[in-house]
Amino acid sequence: ERSDGRERLVSGAKVVAQALKTQDVNYMFGIVGIPVTEIALAAQEVGIRYIGMRNEQAACYAASAVGYLTGRPGVCLVVSGPGLIHALGGMANANMNCWPLIVIGGSSERSQETMGAFQEFPQAVRSSIYGRPGACYVDIPADFVNLQVNVNSVRYVECCMPPPVSMAESSAVYMAASVIRNAKQPLLIIGKGAAYARAEESIRKLVEQCKLPFLPTPMGKGVIPDNHPNCVGAARSRALQFADVIVLFGARLNWILHFGLPPRYQPDVKFIQVDICAEELGNNVRPAVTLLGDINAVTKQELAFQKSLPMNYYTVFYHIQEQLPRDCFVVSEGANTMDIGRTVLQNYLPRHRLDAGTFGTMGVGLGFAIASALVAKDRNPGQQVICVEGDSAFGFSGMEVETICRYNLPIILLVVNNNGIYQGFDTDTWKEMLKFGDATTVAPPMCLLPHSHYEHVMIAFGGKGYFVQTPEELQKSLRQSLADTTKPSLINIMIEPQAMRKAQDFHWLTHSNM
Ligand code: ADP
Ligand code: MG
Repeated sequence: ERSDGRERLVSGAKVVAQALKTQDVNYMFGIVGIPVTEIALAAQEVGIRYIGMRNEQAACYAASAVGYLTGRPGVCLVVSGPGLIHALGGMANANMNCWPLIVIGGSSERSQETMGAFQEFPQAVRSSIYGRPGACYVDIPADFVNLQVNVNSVRYVECCMPPPVSMAESSAVYMAASVIRNAKQPLLIIGKGAAYARAEESIRKLVEQCKLPFLPTPMGKGVIPDNHPNCVGAARSRALQFADVIVLFGARLNWILHFGLPPRYQPDVKFIQVDICAEELGNNVRPAVTLLGDINAVTKQELAFQKSLPMNYYTVFYHIQEQLPRDCFVVSEGANTMDIGRTVLQNYLPRHRLDAGTFGTMGVGLGFAIASALVAKDRNPGQQVICVEGDSAFGFSGMEVETICRYNLPIILLVVNNNGIYQGFDTDTWKEMLKFGDATTVAPPMCLLPHSHYEHVMIAFGGKGYFVQTPEELQKSLRQSLADTTKPSLINIMIEPQAMRKAQDFHWLTHSNM
């Protein structure tokens, strides 16, 4: 800045530098020459670090790497003509890598009427980091660099905000969770998009919580340390070849990942793609699920959802309640199933709820449901009968399913299955336990056979059976059952076997047969 009589003046170069600094741009790489030398000098003056390089291409590579590492674009400063042409290699590389970058070139003189060009910087910074990151070019005319203007006539646009964070559609999050859950050989591929997104903490949680093996791409290395027990980097080819579900976190199915095609992959592998760029989704393969959004945000969505699996009573009853017709009969029995169900499932009509009653009797449910269905048919046409059973309670009169099917009563049986009376074990714990001895000596008396497919009882007699583990499977099967009144159905709803219990320990094993 200098003073010219009464006016304080500032050069175009200084305005450029200050505009960049205001946008939180802190590094400039380049090679000076006419007319950009003044811009480099001015940059240093305002506190931007200037690194003089020997070729614009290298300068551009450096500037784009700063963008990747810090999340704010680096600047590459070049002269027009050959300078800019050399920079093109770096710009192309930045675009291919999806890394933010601003290239500033000085062009020949041009008559400048306004200072409007300063507005270019916030725009360049924004478009370099918003959406899919990439390179931007800003052209500064030579006469602009040396122009002196009144300080008071210059206005710097406020620093542009960090990119807005977008989240994936929640139905896609549900679907991804259920695909991952049902995978036999899931694999996460962690790319440099995940590194750029700074998603390390949430991805690590997902890996550990869901016990998922992961494979980093070359620059995805280190998002989770290579020595993490779930890292399968050493067996890359096998991991790719045998995975049945692959989640792509900010990695593209390009040549580095063999385009996602056989023979490197199973022909029917299911891809779940997470990317901020919609155009990237479905590239080369037809993904099973696409999650459009910021990796960190999407991972957190997925985590929140995974936490709610297996479902608990409240999740189950919430989703049932959402679809229950107001005038339906609700029959219910069980321990937690009946108690919690009573608080969540609403009744709107008298004599439309029947349960274990005064005597607390288990085994009444199917009989009550059959009676309700007959009464509904004769006196309340159109009213449906929903029978909500615990898995133990269902066992007391499960064979009445044959009766239901024989008379073709359109009853919907919901078995809320926690593998036991009050609580049970998951399959792994059950198997682990049997290593310690015969079930008669080691199995807690409240356990029932885990993962029992009660829906097959219904299928056996010609009704419809569903096995559900996620809210969306529950919603879908209940919707179908309610819509089809020509047949009875049974929905076997798996919930957290320990839903009502706190810590899990094995003290009964260490006491007895050790
Ligand atoms: P790699 O070479 O590690 O496989 P790629 O460059 O192929 O990685 O893929 C990186 C992907 O990450 C790009 O498709 C890009 O759109 C995406 N990406 C970049 N930033 C984000 C972000 N914040 N959230 C989601 N995806 C992102
Ligand atoms: Mg890739």
